[in-house]
Amino acid sequence: MEASTAETNCICWAKQIGPSSASYNTIVATLTFQQARQCVLRQLSEDRLRAPRPHSEIEQIGLSEAAGRVLAEPILSDRDYPMLARSVRDGFAVRAADLPGELFVIGEVRAGESFAGEVQPGEALEIMTGAPLPQGADSVVMVEHCTLDGDRLTVPRTLDLGENVSPKASQARENEVLIEVGQRLGFAEIALLAMVGATTVSVYPRPRVAILATGDEIVEVNQTPLDYQIRNSNVESLAVQVKRAGGCPTILPIARDLYQATRELAEQGLRFDMLLLSGGVSAGKYDIVERVLADLDAEFYFDRVLIMPGQPLVFGKARGKFFFGLPGNPASTMVTFEIFARSAVELLGGQKEASLPLVWSKLSQDFRQKTGLTRFLPAVLSADGSQITPMAWQGSGDVPSLTRANAFLVTEPDREKWTAGDWIQVLLK
Ligand code: AMP
Ligand code: MG
Repeated sequence: MEASTAETNCICWAKQIGPSSASYNTIVATLTFQQARQCVLRQLSEDRLRAPRPHSEIEQIGLSEAAGRVLAEPILSDRDYPMLARSVRDGFAVRAADLPGELFVIGEVRAGESFAGEVQPGEALEIMTGAPLPQGADSVVMVEHCTLDGDRLTVPRTLDLGENVSPKASQARENEVLIEVGQRLGFAEIALLAMVGATTVSVYPRPRVAILATGDEIVEVNQTPLDYQIRNSNVESLAVQVKRAGGCPTILPIARDLYQATRELAEQGLRFDMLLLSGGVSAGKYDIVERVLADLDAEFYFDRVLIMPGQPLVFGKARGKFFFGLPGNPASTMVTFEIFARSAVELLGGQKEASLPLVWSKLSQDFRQKTGLTRFLPAVLSADGSQITPMAWQGSGDVPSLTRANAFLVTEPDREKWTAGDWIQVLLK
């Protein structure tokens, strides 16, 4: 899905036109989905090269707090893994050259023990999974593949040399880098940290992300809206999304669609590491977010992307901080965060790779669209991932439908028709 750099060179103009100019809206780029995504990734990585996070910001935290954090120092192997060749099966340690044949069992070795003797030709040692391979033996025959009668073991088959044995250092060598800087720590990484005895770990600070809702019609969640008002749900979904991307959200007071109020709150938001604004970026008379940001000497990278939902979408930088002006309709806010801002938060947080969890599945029914836009439509992905069904929904304001969807179907902009059974791309929710 990611486009090549050549076709996605984003054109980044600086807007330096004040609120009184009528033309301030005419020179910012409109990009395709691929171009806009490349633009975000490029701006974030260039920013990181220009201004790497200072060493003093790195935090030392305990292993139990480390899940979801991003590694700031590489993790090295404290020793070889495994330290000794060991059995990966319950069975008998043998010399492969003796098989097939009848062997004499000289004893046993359990996991957590070490056998002092040596397996001689014609001998076998009973061995448990995880136990070290004794001297003299080179392979392990599984208990299911032989018969034992007293101390007589019959093995009717041959074995490959080293079969069912994990050789010394086959997983890792002492001092080898096992996890690189910039890796987000999930359960497997936490297991590895525990494995190498890391009780504390160095991680990057979480990026602090300000969230600013704009709109005269928005009221607080604990208020009863009048018929023509709505509750401020966008800041809540954005806070969850920011946290999931590894950031630390702060919700600012609602900005009314007034120049001064919006400007003051936007300035406040630009003191954080990143600012997310919701609403106020369409073409309406009171959509003043872009004008406010232009007056804060913002550099705009794009202000429209050929996607649905979420066409008006502003990305830029002001006072050294990145901002996204996300469209206010809840589905647009959620989707544009997932496909653009999420990666920005991840990269700001020191992650090496930004995520965009796209998979392929087969359509359960025919589907058609008007061409021209990359669409991200709420859909239900079957439990086994094999089928995707687009959902009926009432457009980007339809939050109830979004809760019933577990994925977004992603359409190519230049294709009109799909038939049931066709492959289509899916963005996981
Ligand atoms: P706007 O992008 O400002 O034109 O807003 C478009 C629509 O999105 C509004 O009419 C509202 O219905 C909805 N909306 C805007 N801001 C929010 C918000 N903070 N929470 C929920 N819905 C919102
Ligand atoms: Mg608005």
